[in-house]
Formats: sequence, structure tokens, C-alpha cells
Amino acid sequence: MRRPTPTVWVGRLPLGGAHPVAVQSMTNTPTREVEATTEQVLALYRAGSELVRLTVNDEEAAQAVPEIKRRLGEEGVEVPLVGDFHFNGHLLLRRYPRMAEALDKFRINPGTLGRGRHKDENFQEMVRIALDLGKPIRIGANWGSLDPALLTELMEANARRPEPKSAHEVLLEALVESAVRAYEAARELGLGEDRIVLSAKVSKAPDLVWVYRELARRTPAPLHLGLTEAGMGVKGMVASTAALAPLLLEGIGDTIRISLTPAPGEPRTKEVEVAQEILQALGLRSFAPEVTSCPGCGRTKSTFFQELAGTVGAYLRAKLPEWRERYPGVEELRVAVMGCVVNGPGESRHAHIGISLPGSGEEPKAPVYADGQLLTILKGENLAQDFLDILEDYVERRFSKA
Ligand code: SF4
Repeated sequence: MRRPTPTVWVGRLPLGGAHPVAVQSMTNTPTREVEATTEQVLALYRAGSELVRLTVNDEEAAQAVPEIKRRLGEEGVEVPLVGDFHFNGHLLLRRYPRMAEALDKFRINPGTLGRGRHKDENFQEMVRIALDLGKPIRIGANWGSLDPALLTELMEANARRPEPKSAHEVLLEALVESAVRAYEAARELGLGEDRIVLSAKVSKAPDLVWVYRELARRTPAPLHLGLTEAGMGVKGMVASTAALAPLLLEGIGDTIRISLTPAPGEPRTKEVEVAQEILQALGLRSFAPEVTSCPGCGRTKSTFFQELAGTVGAYLRAKLPEWRERYPGVEELRVAVMGCVVNGPGESRHAHIGISLPGSGEEPKAPVYADGQLLTILKGENLAQDFLDILEDYVERRFSKA
């Protein structure tokens, strides 16, 4: 069951409460480059990002934000924009009120606000601007930029314990403490529970699970989940999934971002795709029809089975934009493409529609199942096209608005 939290509205997007776990992303273009950044925000939005974060690191970036917002508006896109601030956020928010107004949320890192008295003053100034403008904030701690004074304080307290914890455990405690203290300070300044999202990111899955369980235990705030610096390719995807899945299954987490390092030439939108896949695999949201296919084995006959699984997947992806318009709920569609009689009929019956191809030694015929019942048996050269035609008919019958 989802952990109960207040709902925080970020522009038109509700986070927390009973609302679906939202997918967010972050641009990697210099924000001052208005055209490139607008294009990337559009690409991320069109890939399914429901919230896009931009770095606001200098005066040019601050000046660019309202223009990026205006250009998105011209495209009819109202995706909420989050400003990511470090070191000088208080100055930029004060000097560039149009930028502050254009943003839908401010991300404040309690570890990059300065030192001592200045740290508190800078935090207060950012929170007061959020209060004045009616904006929410995300207090986003990160172990890569943890407040050293707080870490020293907790290390010294740990040294006085009869049985001191390890330095690593204290570091994680300090990260949680940093986020919780900033949350309490923002509340004392008058920011409502419905205006604060929390995060505290680390780069190892077991650490992330511990940290977020603590945040969930100690505050009611909606939580933004993400494994920081997850890495590249398969490693980054697996590490993020391993970290987020246990938390999401426990009902912890209201919005997620997958911090992949893009491989050269890889689109930034990959992080959105992975976030959607994680939520869909956990049964929390449906973004696109799914193909269930077996891995194949020594019983699989030729490469036809792999080709058909690929063809069906490509067909679903190509059809989805049109189907979304015409067939509400089609994102829930589950299609099975299986390699032989062992698990083929069973898995096909569990899907909305499925085909069980003949394995080696089996008769050259492929039963097709729809809604758990045998629909027809396909044979011959046109088997792939015949299955796609049946699939199209099925989608029309099952998901048509009428
Ligand atoms: S369904 Fe058949 S072909 Fe596919 S993995 Fe299982 S035994 Fe192998």
C-alpha cells in the first residue's frame, strides 16, 4: 500500500497522496542555451517526463528560464519546470524574479547553501521566496555534497557512544538528518506540508533503501526517489532498478528519476524510458503495451521466434501514438510471443493475446489465444503478418471507445 503523504502540486502535476508515481528527468544542456534546452525539454516531455529539472547555475541560465517557458508555451506544452540550485540559488532567485515565477518548483540542496550563519540565511531567503510566490520546494540532500559541519557534529557524537557506529553508517545518518532538519526548518518558516518534497540520494542500492525508509519514518513528506550517479548502460539501469524496486513495492516514493550517464549518442530520453519500464514492471503504472516473450532455449526452432517477438514489439511501439487516441486503456495490453509448447499456451492464456510458436519436433502450427481462449491456429509463410492483423482486430474490439 502506498505510504500516505500530503499532495504537493507542482504546476498542474500532483505529487504524493494517492496520485500515480510521477516520472521526472533533468536536462544536460547548458540552460543558457535557450534553443537546445527547449528542444531537450520537449524531447523529454514527449518521451513521457512529467516534470523536467533544469540547472540554474548562473545569471545567463536564470535569464533563459522565462524564455524557455515561453517557447514551451508556444508549443502548447505545460510540463512543470524545476530549478536546480546550488551555492547561489538565493542570489539568483532574488535578482531574477521572472525566473522564480517561471519555475514550478525550486530544488534546494542543504549541503550547498554556504557555511555557518550564511547557510541558514540563504536557506531562509529561498524558502521565503517560495512562500511569497506560492511555489513548492524539494529539499534534495546528496551524499556527494553533504554539509561537512553536520557530518562533523554527528561523527563527534558517534565517537562518544559506548559502541560507535561505522563511519559509513554515520554518513548515511547525517544525510537523513540533513534532509530532516531542512524540512523542519522550512516548516518553521511557514511552508506547508503540501509544499515540500524530500530526497536524499546516494549511489549504492542498499544505502538508498535504508535512507528512504528513514525519511519515510521521520517525515510525512512526499519523496523523490533516485539513485544518484547510477552510471552508464546496463549497470545504471540495473542499479537504479535494484535500489528503487524495494522502496516502491513498500509504497515509498512519489516521483522518480533515473540518473543514467548517457553513452555517446544515446538520447537523454533513455532515463525516462527506464523510469517508465521500472514503474510498469512493478505494476504501478502502465505506459505502453507489453510483450512477454520467453528467452528461447534448445527447443526454439530457428530465429523466427526472436524475429516475431521483435516485430510485434516494433509494431506496438509504432502504433501506440495512434492507439492512445483511439483506444483508451490500450497501455494495459499484454501480448505474449512464446517459443514452444512447454510454456507457450499457458503464458499466452495469461496475456490478453498470445501466440505459441512451434518448437523443434512440434507440428508447424502456432495456436493464438485471446482472453484465455484458443482463437485460431496459424500456419504458413504469412504467419507474422497474420498475427499482426489478429492483434489489430483484437485491440479495436477490446479497447475501442464505443
Ligand atoms: S517456452 Fe519453450 S522455447 Fe521458450 S524457453 Fe520455455 S521451453 Fe524454451
